[in-house]
Amino acid sequence: MSNPRNTKAKQAVLNEIANSSFALSQPELFERVKGTCDRVTVYRVLDRLVTENKIHKIVNIDGTINYAHCASCDESHTHAHDHLHFSCVKCKKIECLEEQLIHVKLPDTYQIKELFLTISGICPSCSLS
Ligand SMILES: [Zn+2]
Ligand SMILES: [Zn+2]
Repeated sequence: MSNPRNTKAKQAVLNEIANSSFALSQPELFERVKGTCDRVTVYRVLDRLVTENKIHKIVNIDGTINYAHCASCDESHTHAHDHLHFSCVKCKKIECLEEQLIHVKLPDTYQIKELFLTISGICPSCSLS
């Protein structure tokens, strides 16, 4: 992915995710960058950013995949995204709860590759209204 158009697409997608306070799904991301890149490019760029650990995936309660950028995405390439996610049933937004780490102890013979834990409920801004 070295051509300038893809680099621009990658930057555009990363900016949208990094500047959003909640996680974005593929259709939402595509809406935001559609002037810059097509749907296929968006998918490809997302895969690439996940592989490079610049963003991480969140599987929502309904099975849809969302993407978010958290502080640990900037820190290293070896970190695990081992925090909780919160999915609001009212506004449908998904947030990273970066302070809430998940500690899982599996038998030694099991290896964790990916860990998704999403809690559904009502977020602070929805509980006010
Ligand atoms: Zn909400
Ligand atoms: Zn997260």
